[in-house]
Amino acid sequence: MPKKNDLERKALQLVFDAGSEGLLQSDMWKGLGVTSREGSRLALKFEEKDAIERRKVLHNGRWTYKLFSQTKLVTLESIKDCPCIVCEGLDKCFEGGQISPLNCQPLTLWMESNTAEPDA
Ligand code: SF4
Repeated sequence: MPKKNDLERKALQLVFDAGSEGLLQSDMWKGLGVTSREGSRLALKFEEKDAIERRKVLHNGRWTYKLFSQTKLVTLESIKDCPCIVCEGLDKCFEGGQISPLNCQPLTLWMESNTAEPDA
């Protein structure tokens, strides 16, 4: 039996690898070699931590859950406009320093523009 952290890591990897198709909860616990009870407990724990989303689906005439990873890949494209990339103060910028990302207006504005909800 794998250690608890190894088991959770493997479970999250299985869900992540399923991508946008999602992974049936039963396929997760079968892939892990654990009981359905243990698999359900893990899925609920991950959902509480916002690591996954559980969606109720009808599969082979029975209601079950599909699991979707909430982990987003960071791509170069996603940071190409970050002001830090061209900032002249980059080498002096650190938490507790004279300049800091914690109170940097350009960085704050960039982060806000990248986390805004899309228009409905
Ligand atoms: S956080 Fe602000 S000051 Fe620091 S490197 Fe980025 S843009 Fe420059």
